[in-house]
Amino acid sequence: MRIDVFSLFPDLVDQFCAESLLGKARSGGVLDLRCHDIRDQATDVHRTVDDAPYGGGAGMVMKPDPIFASVEANDPPRPLLLLSPGGRRFDQSMAAELGDLAETTGGFSLLCGRYEGVDHRVRRHLVDDEVSIGDVVLSGGEVAACLIIEAVTRLRAGAMGNTQSPITESFGASGLLEEPQYTRPLEFRGWDVPEVLRSGDHARIERYRQAQRLHRTIRERPDLVESRGGVTVDEQSLLEEFPPDPYH
Ligand code: SAH
Repeated sequence: MRIDVFSLFPDLVDQFCAESLLGKARSGGVLDLRCHDIRDQATDVHRTVDDAPYGGGAGMVMKPDPIFASVEANDPPRPLLLLSPGGRRFDQSMAAELGDLAETTGGFSLLCGRYEGVDHRVRRHLVDDEVSIGDVVLSGGEVAACLIIEAVTRLRAGAMGNTQSPITESFGASGLLEEPQYTRPLEFRGWDVPEVLRSGDHARIERYRQAQRLHRTIRERPDLVESRGGVTVDEQSLLEEFPPDPYH
C-alpha cells in the first residue's frame, strides 16, 4: 500500500512512521510511505508557500501553486485527501474503508494544511475529499496524517497476518468495546486477576469476555449498543451469569 503525504513538515510524518509497527510495515513492504515537501516546489528566492488572505483577516493561507506543483510532480495514488477540521470525520470504519480502497487503487494520499489552511482552489480542483480527525483544531495536518496512516496500516498489517485479527477489538466486527485485559503478576498491590481467567476453561473464558465487552459498552458507550440493535436474549443471560469486572 502506497501512501503519499504532502506537507511543509514532511519529517514529522516520516519520523513518526519510522518506529514500531509502522517502521516494520515499511521495512516489510506492507507500507510504501512517501513524504513530499511542498516547499520544494516554491519558485521564488524566499521559497514562499503562504500569503495573506484576500479580503483581509488574521493569519496566512497556503498558496495553491506549490501545492498543485508538488502533487503533479509526484503523481500520487488517489484518492487525495485534504486534512481539514471541516472534513468527513475519520473513524475505524473509514480506516477499514481506506485500506480496502487502497487494495484497488494501490494506495491513497494525504495533504496537510498549516497556518489558517489552504487556498480554496486546492479544495475545489485538486483534492478528492476532506477528512477531519475530530472536532478540534490543530496547527497542522501532520498529526492527523500520522493518526490515519497508523490506523489504516495497522488493519492492513493485521489482514496480512502480522497481528491479531481485530474482530473483538474496540470498534471491530463485534460492535463492542474490548473487554478488560490482565497480564502478570497475578497479584499486584493487593489487586488480583479475575478467577475465571485463570481457570483454563476456554469456553467459560470466552463467555466471560463477551459479558465484559457488553457490560463495558453498555456503561461507556450506550450509543454503540444501540447502533448494533441492542442486546439479545442470550446476551442478557450472559450479563446475568457474569457481573461486571470490578475495574472501576
Ligand atoms: N482556519 C482553519 C483551521 C486551520 S488549522 C479553520 O478554522 O477551519 C491548520 C491545518 O491543520 C488545516 O489546514 C488542517 O490541514 C490541519 N487540521 C487542523 N485541525 C484538523 C482536524 N481536526 N483534522 C484534520 N486536520 C486538521
